[in-house]
Amino acid sequence: MFQTTIIREARTEGIGLHTGVFGHIRLVPAPADTGIVFRRTDLDNFPIEAQGHNVAKVSYATSLMKQGVLLSTTEHLLAAIYSCGIDNIYIDIDSIEVPILDGSAEPFMQMLEQTGVRKLRRKRRYLKVLKPLEVAEADPGKTGQFRRIGIYPADEFRVRCYVDFPHPLVGQQEVEMVVSPETFRHLLARARTFCFERDIAPLREMGLIRGGSLENAIVLTNDGVMNGPLRFPDEFGRHKALDLIGDLALAGLPLLARVEAHKAGHSLHTQLVSKLLADPTLWTITTDEAPHAEHTTPFAALSPVPAAD
Ligand SMILES: [Zn+2]
Repeated sequence: MFQTTIIREARTEGIGLHTGVFGHIRLVPAPADTGIVFRRTDLDNFPIEAQGHNVAKVSYATSLMKQGVLLSTTEHLLAAIYSCGIDNIYIDIDSIEVPILDGSAEPFMQMLEQTGVRKLRRKRRYLKVLKPLEVAEADPGKTGQFRRIGIYPADEFRVRCYVDFPHPLVGQQEVEMVVSPETFRHLLARARTFCFERDIAPLREMGLIRGGSLENAIVLTNDGVMNGPLRFPDEFGRHKALDLIGDLALAGLPLLARVEAHKAGHSLHTQLVSKLLADPTLWTITTDEAPHAEHTTPFAALSPVPAAD
């Protein structure tokens, strides 16, 4: 299995969910061993690698920070890039936050269809998990209950994501899948961000969701949805799995591991990545092709062309 990058550039633009700041994004091919790297074009192309050591404070979205330079809400774009098996790419951006677009990863998947994918002449390196690691924290709403996340050895990249929100349209939802371009596209990419109507005013007071609207987030009322229809009956659980994959991209390499998230969120996702990377006895880096390596090939629509770097 060889490393990949994109064939040609693609662009999009829009406002950030939390800052409301308008920005432009350009996906640019990158050489082998670059990884996924954001470049702030408004700051002399300052690079911010999509890696665990650059994770900043995380609450309602995942933000990266390097030498004081911030970049917010990376998770949906990273979920698309990571699931499509793109190892090396520059993401040029001229603002502080990745555009939210329609609140899902579908617009980013459409960009990746435009860019295509090509193989590079360098073997892909995987981060293969050797020992389990679990992180948990008390569930603030429920005494004695925990939110938790764990990562376990596996020969392929598999996620299981369980959510439980006390709402008639949500309740308990669970998504389990091997992550591949095909499964991501069909099962998760279209699932949108959501929030509860009762949380809107408090979030605004915290300076968040300044760019939020009925065009980029599902808003749940006490007993229904303000801006239906939903794209899937379990769109909420699917979106949480999308967020999880976008945060796991911060491992910096494709994972050979199984990840289970139980009522987790960005904070637990990124804590897991940071703790994993901080303990090299838990993993190894390998170029050995996994038995299920076909799951990580770019999907057919991206039509790889022969190696030519
Ligand atoms: Zn999200």
